[in-house]
Amino acid sequence: MPGYESVFGKAKGMVFPRIVLVGHGVLDELATTCRQFAFPNRGAVVTGPKTADIAGRRAAAILQEGGFRVTTIIAVEATEAEVDRVAEEARSAGAEFLIGAGGGSKIDITKVVAARLHIPFLSLPTSAAHDGISSPRASLHGAVPIGVIADTQLIVQAPFRLLASGCADVISNLTATLDWRLAVRLRNEEYSSTAATLSEYAAQEIMDHAASIKPNLEESVWIAIRPILVAGIAMSVAGSSRPCSGSEHLFSHALDRVSEHPSLHGEQCGVGAIMMMYLHGGDWKRLKNALLTIGAPTTARELGVRNEEVVKALVMAHTIRPDRYTILGDNGLTREAAERLATVTGVIG
Ligand SMILES: [Zn+2]
Repeated sequence: MPGYESVFGKAKGMVFPRIVLVGHGVLDELATTCRQFAFPNRGAVVTGPKTADIAGRRAAAILQEGGFRVTTIIAVEATEAEVDRVAEEARSAGAEFLIGAGGGSKIDITKVVAARLHIPFLSLPTSAAHDGISSPRASLHGAVPIGVIADTQLIVQAPFRLLASGCADVISNLTATLDWRLAVRLRNEEYSSTAATLSEYAAQEIMDHAASIKPNLEESVWIAIRPILVAGIAMSVAGSSRPCSGSEHLFSHALDRVSEHPSLHGEQCGVGAIMMMYLHGGDWKRLKNALLTIGAPTTARELGVRNEEVVKALVMAHTIRPDRYTILGDNGLTREAAERLATVTGVIG
């Protein structure tokens, strides 16, 4: 068939974790997992000052017992300077693989350092405060973990607020996918129904099991962690954060800029999703109820931000990332519309 090859010239790469271990005590499998990947002998555990005691040191001990030579690197905030410092420390220790053992920011740092040093890394989350545990997404450019070890026994020890925030982040996929499809219709944007379906499935799972997600209950982590991981996979399929990040994320990023004391990423996205679902004409009350049931914030007061900051963030949101078309359109909300939106949905009052 002449010319056939020129008709279909599509190609796409998707990078996924090769192993995702979820469950009670799976941290014990760390050395075995590193052996399965045929990791070289020298590695480094990147962990935080607090998470070192919860997971970092144990991870290093398990690796050493397994015959690896391991350096432990304590990292603080996810800044460029800290990434430089951790990268230098890992390089001078001769690390040929990394373990990111901690909350979101430690895993973010590990993602970026691994990408920079061209070495593999495993993600060992000690909390699940957002959907970045298994994705390449980081505040800076990062790699996808070759494996994820999500030990529910560890994660249940983190403050419940973090898990609730992770759940809210995933629930906010519902408005992100609506925004995506809107952009497809209005801007002919590239779309993956596989990625959108995975993202919506993850949100639906959390909504359906909201009543079972409770503090100090390891089974809650078990229920919540899989949709959180699936959300990361949806982003890997899409090759961007599009399936899990729309207008509600723009609102959260805007709030980070305008608020004196911004709240957790996932918590802000959950509140944003209530308002954006209203704009989409969807069932925002159901979304809000799911957040209430889980115990995630649904108001400015619960976020610990001022009403005025919410209104400012709503007005500013569409400017955060102009290439990401959402329900906010090109011109965004007027101040009056923003006030009304936040009031009608009970976010401010
Ligand atoms: Zn998010």
